[in-house]
Amino acid sequence: MTEPPTAEEIHKLKRQLLKKGAEVNEILTRLLAGEQVSPERLLGGGKKGATPIEKARRWMALIDASLKRVADGSYGRCITCGDGLPVLHLQQIPWIDTCQACAAKAENPEEEK
Ligand SMILES: [Zn+2]
Repeated sequence: MTEPPTAEEIHKLKRQLLKKGAEVNEILTRLLAGEQVSPERLLGGGKKGATPIEKARRWMALIDASLKRVADGSYGRCITCGDGLPVLHLQQIPWIDTCQACAAKAENPEEEK
């Protein structure tokens, strides 16, 4: 079991989420206005062929979902297995919601066999 972040750590992570949310919202607003935004400002990965607007929307949804979990107290735990998420990972990517083991299973369901 990994210990989930402390209340103080979650408080800091929430501020990161709010800051990032404002940034992504600005990017999305500019994209919707027809402006070009350099791809490196968008969340990496995502589905192949996703448009920048789709990527920004998906990112925004991840941040929103994380803020909801901060509000309901489930933030900092894997949504699949309930294990705590490492604080170091959350500090890098505060909107992650799945532990590495569950994320690996979700991405490569075949590899278990
Ligand atoms: Zn998990």
